[in-house]
Amino acid sequence: MFPIRHVRPAVLGLACALLAACHGGKAVRESPAPVADSAPAVSQPAPDDTFNAVAWMQTSAEYAALTTQVYRNVCEALPAAVADPSQSALIGGEQGGGFESLPPAVIADIDETLLDNSAYAARRIASGGPFDPVAWKVWIDEAAARPMPGVQILLDCLAEQGVTLAYISNRNHEGERAATVKNLRQEGFPLPPDNDDLVLLRGDPRGVDADWSEKGARRRWVADRYRVVALLGDNIGDFMNGIATSIEQRDAMVRDHADNWGTRWFVFPNPSYGSWEKALLYGCDTAKTAPGRCRHQHLRAD
Ligand SMILES: [Mg+2]
Repeated sequence: MFPIRHVRPAVLGLACALLAACHGGKAVRESPAPVADSAPAVSQPAPDDTFNAVAWMQTSAEYAALTTQVYRNVCEALPAAVADPSQSALIGGEQGGGFESLPPAVIADIDETLLDNSAYAARRIASGGPFDPVAWKVWIDEAAARPMPGVQILLDCLAEQGVTLAYISNRNHEGERAATVKNLRQEGFPLPPDNDDLVLLRGDPRGVDADWSEKGARRRWVADRYRVVALLGDNIGDFMNGIATSIEQRDAMVRDHADNWGTRWFVFPNPSYGSWEKALLYGCDTAKTAPGRCRHQHLRAD
């Protein structure tokens, strides 16, 4: 699900509660100008500052090269993982016991991992407006998201090695599932015509975490049926739960699982949105400090 942007925290929280549609929790986009600690939150949205991120994703040779590189790395890692029944990419007990005899599967996030939603982002930049849930739903319903650059490399090697692809996304189960499945099928992603069981979106009754944006319960549903040999995503929540925390703790989570990155876990670049933005505001008392100031305080100058 694409993030909410240009929205004040209170409005953002309300929008999340009402719409259940802000998995990335797009950070606030107030003016970057210094603001006194006691100043109230800026009331007007600032001009969009995501142009460079979206332009890079849509136009740079480097982004396409990076995504292709990640798919290639997955394919190079798969044979050994498939051949060793003792291997699982899941942590925290998500795989469960007795998995050695289960067929292998890769779990992939959808947005900015398999499908490219930058056209939606470009529309919001062109309109100059904040995240619009109506516009996002229109985009979902169009089922027009393009495949990520290089993804055919992944699809070919999964087919060659007999590995199933499961899709876990924080698009909403309610109201967004049919169009998401349609989009995936149109773009050639493996989904049997009569079976879309392996598309698990947010709110799917088969697996809902206490924080329903988390994906652990849905990973466990897949793991009851498959040995998960790799995880793919653009957000660390695609790999583990508990990511809604501070920048320092998120860094520690990455270090704690250093052996998994590039071997079992494969991450795609996404400078446009993600849970990393929420981390910039973690612990920020927005009643006392403007969110823009909280965000800028995290930049290092040495
Ligand atoms: Mg994603």
